[in-house]
Amino acid sequence: MLLKGSCHCGAVKFSVDSPHPYPFNLCYCSICRKTAGGGGYAINLGANSDTLTVKGADNIRTFHAKLHTSDDGETEESPGERKFCGNCGSALWLWDPRWPELMHPHASSIDTPLPQPPERTHLMLGSKASWVEPCIRKGDKTFDDYPDESIAEWHERLGLVQE
Ligand SMILES: [Zn+2]
Ligand SMILES: [Zn+2]
Repeated sequence: MLLKGSCHCGAVKFSVDSPHPYPFNLCYCSICRKTAGGGGYAINLGANSDTLTVKGADNIRTFHAKLHTSDDGETEESPGERKFCGNCGSALWLWDPRWPELMHPHASSIDTPLPQPPERTHLMLGSKASWVEPCIRKGDKTFDDYPDESIAEWHERLGLVQE
């Protein structure tokens, strides 16, 4: 499925082919919440990085999340590249050099109408903010940390991989 996306101010527009476009994966971790999740979580999709085309690429900035590696406050930079618009701040996508063939657009940056997921995964609930009340429906899966399947595996299990 071809996804077209943009930031809020329009300085960045992109398109990418996505075999895994269902917005089912709700992550409540502090990185997602702070950088992209005003409602308490953010949703990433799965796409093929070699099909990415970008207009306004010089407006894109990159953030490497700080990972806490010990209790005494030491941090380490994630190799993952969080891309956002340097003009309006919209979160765009995540790309990780460890899995270079993939990229993960934020559902919030996509303008193409996305399909409604038949069930959802709530992950990193152990890191959610206290004010966030997850809307967990019948059939949804919940995890305190990482889920038991990837974005691709969820689409395969439900027969929802897109051409
Ligand atoms: Zn922008
Ligand atoms: Zn997260």
